Amino acid sequence: MALGLLPDVVSDLVQLKRVGAHPASLVVKLHKTLDGAIAAASQKVDCKSGCSYCCHYRVIASAAEILTIAGFIHKLALNEQTRVVKRLRANASATAGLSARQHESTNVECALLQDNKCLAYDVRPFACRRHHSMNVAACKETFDDPQSPAQNIQSVERLAVAAGVINAHAAGSVRAGLDSNIYELGAALFVAMTDASSVARWKRGKVTFPAVRDHQEFSEAWS
Ligand code: SF4
Repeated sequence: MALGLLPDVVSDLVQLKRVGAHPASLVVKLHKTLDGAIAAASQKVDCKSGCSYCCHYRVIASAAEILTIAGFIHKLALNEQTRVVKRLRANASATAGLSARQHESTNVECALLQDNKCLAYDVRPFACRRHHSMNVAACKETFDDPQSPAQNIQSVERLAVAAGVINAHAAGSVRAGLDSNIYELGAALFVAMTDASSVARWKRGKVTFPAVRDHQEFSEAWS
């Protein structure tokens, strides 16, 4: 899928950069492609609405995805925006200085989780759309004990089709001269919500969130 999708993604990203547009329209298009590919590869999973063990993991996302989520949050009522920013700030403080592996073991709740549902479900990142479990007992075990060796069981087919779309997005960003770094969601979303210059940096092909220590090149982040 990645090879077939790549020319369109490159073309869309080059065009976005040329006109200086916000990435949300492309991100939403890629999310739909990813959701369709996952549905076509569907296997029975244990995931259901209201189950949120995985919303306590460290989540990664591209700059374009994070700017899209920030745009979504900025359209919510002011008190909702304020609540999210407050939670993002608290999470950033709780995880500052932790390695990615240490962060994985903290069970810090995603700032976008509200009443066990995702506040930004329609624009949740690739990582959340791709993630699934065929064994919820393992999710609970690793939630109750983050050091547990229990292994989540996932569908190789679902992971493979998701990788096609995620890889096309990353490769397209590189070819279009746009930021292809992958960031820890909470820290980068806090910057995106509080620093209006983030969008301009993405449009210019700069590192979008230079203050976020927890970021990696795409190939390292998804390896
Ligand atoms: S972005 Fe939404 S789905 Fe992803 S971890 Fe946060 S609350 Fe859960």
